[in-house]
Parts: sequence; C-alpha cells; structure tokens
Amino acid sequence: MDISVIVPLYNEAESLPELEAWIRQVMSENNFSYEIIFINDGSTDNSWQVIRSLQKNNPAVKGVCFRRNYGKSPALNTGFARAQGDVVITMDADLQDSPDEIPELYRMITEDGYDLVSGWKQKRYDPLSKTIPTKLFNATARKVSGIKNLHDFNCGLKAYRKKVVKHIEVYGDMHRYIPYLAKLAGFNKIGEKVVHHQARKYGSTKFGLDRFVNGYLDLATLWFTGKFGVKPMHFFGLLGSLMFILGFFAVIVVGAMKLYNMYSGNTYHLVTESPYFYLSLTTMLLGTQLFLTGFIGELVVRNSYRRNDYEIEEELNLKND
Ligand code: UDP
Ligand code: MG
Repeated sequence: MDISVIVPLYNEAESLPELEAWIRQVMSENNFSYEIIFINDGSTDNSWQVIRSLQKNNPAVKGVCFRRNYGKSPALNTGFARAQGDVVITMDADLQDSPDEIPELYRMITEDGYDLVSGWKQKRYDPLSKTIPTKLFNATARKVSGIKNLHDFNCGLKAYRKKVVKHIEVYGDMHRYIPYLAKLAGFNKIGEKVVHHQARKYGSTKFGLDRFVNGYLDLATLWFTGKFGVKPMHFFGLLGSLMFILGFFAVIVVGAMKLYNMYSGNTYHLVTESPYFYLSLTTMLLGTQLFLTGFIGELVVRNSYRRNDYEIEEELNLKND
C-alpha cells in the first residue's frame, strides 16, 4: 500500500464527509493505493456514525473509536501503530489542511529521501492570539531541538516514512514535537513543505491558550529526557555539586570575615546575624537535595526497561537468539 492517511478527530462530524471525498478524489487522480484511518477521540457528536457510513461507500476508510477523549497525541499514536502504507500522512479533520498536498509530500518522501516532511502554514488563517505566540514557540523549539530548518513544528499535516512512525512514541501532548521525537530516534532527514492553510469551516478549535504553557513544559521535558534520560546524575549531580561548593565557600567567607574583624579589633557580629550565612546554608542544602535527586533518578533508570533501548539501523552477520 502506498499511503496511509491518519486523521485524529474530536467532534468534527460536519467536516468528515467533505474531507473523505476530497482525499478519495486526490488518491484516485494519482492512482495511489491507500487507506484513511480515522481516529475518533471520544467525540460526543455523531462523528463515529458518519465514519461508519463513509466506510460503507469506501472500503479504504478505517477507523478506531476511543471510549473517551484522550487527546491528539494518543490518537496519532494509535493511528501510527495501525498504519500499513509506505508513506504515512497525518492531517487534521477540520479541513484546514488540504489533501491536495498529498502527492508532493509523497514524492518528497519516496524520491527526495526525507524521513519526515512537515507542513509549513506560511500564510495562516488563524486569529492573531494564536499566530504570534506560535512564532515564539517555533523559535524556541528550533533552538532547543537543533532542527534549524523547521518553521512550523506543530503543523497537523505531515508525511513520514513508515519506519519513522513505527519507531517513535507520541504520548501526552507531544504531538507538537514529533520532528524532535523523530530526531531523538535518529531520523535526521527532516524537511519542510509550504502548505496551503484555510480558516476553520465548521466547529471550533479544540485547544486554548494553555497550549503555549504546556508546550514549553513539554519542550523542557523532551530536552531533559533526550539529554539525561538514562543518566540523570549528570544533570542533578553537576547542578547539586556546583551549588554545594558555592554555598560551602560562601560560608567559609562569612566565617573568615567574622574572624578577621574579631582579631583586627573591628566591630563584629555573630555569623548567625548575617543574612549571607543563611543564604549560603540554603545553597548548600539545595545542592545536597539536587545531588540526592540524582541518585533517585539513577535508581529509577536502573529499573527502567528502556535503559538499553537503542535504535538499531542494521545488523551484520549476527545471530539473534
Ligand atoms: N483533536 C483530537 N483530540 C483532541 C483535540 C483535537 O483528535 O482532544 C483533533 C481535532 O479534531 C483536529 C486536530 O486534532 O482534527 C487539530 O485540532 P484543532 O483544529 O482544534 O487545532 P488547531 O487547528 O486549532 O491547532
Ligand atoms: Mg484546526
């Protein structure tokens, strides 16, 4: 099969028939063999009935229905697990992404050799309250992830080589950083294609402004787990040691100043009367805590089934028994 189109959806009943017809038309014009996997993320409208009826007329339509709403990432992950096409395309259900982009995305994966191609909504039809923070969000994501050529990490329209979706795990709200996840899994050929974007035709957006707060927290998590996931002591140990040493020397300075003043006949106070003494003490305590957190982290890693989980591209002349 050439292409799997994965569509996560939450209360998008009005859009679905139009979307399915459009995808079907593009696929038949280009002679692609394909499947459309709708992931109904616990919709409370009649989205699932609509999908069932679409399936009756088009055997390429497939679907998964969650019992409750989990979020876009769990929906995508479920679709990834079931996808059979050589190229996997994800797209939002709200008709903001255009199926007309599919042939070129397919070509970029199969001919240009990209592992992942992300859409770039260069001209967006969204409110300003969304587009401005998005610019900031993408600049930070570029910096932290080191993927310098992407302008639009969170574009719903993306294409993947099948191998990529079978080797990344999208959970929580991590769909915003799929290119980063792919990079952490060792897929380096990440490209971008300018795509057409439309204003939402039916229904309303499912994400509020909290997306930006959560987005930054998730980016911090990915950065941390990507760098220190199996060696937390390298993070906490360094930070803890530095703080402890800082506090330790500060305490010595506070004590030495008192002794100096005492013996040279100046006025002097008890060290406990100096705020610096308490600051130094606090720094030492925090340093110790951080260091111990490192130990706890190492204990957690020791018990993690992922501590020796590597992305292996190929093996030569080895028996796997
Ligand atoms: N979506 C989902 N589960 C959710 C929230 C959203 O499957 O909990 C789907 C939604 O139906 C749409 C896609 O994710 O197909 C993108 O959502 P939306 O269009 O609301 O996001 P925006 O375009 O505003 O970023
Ligand atoms: Mg949308």
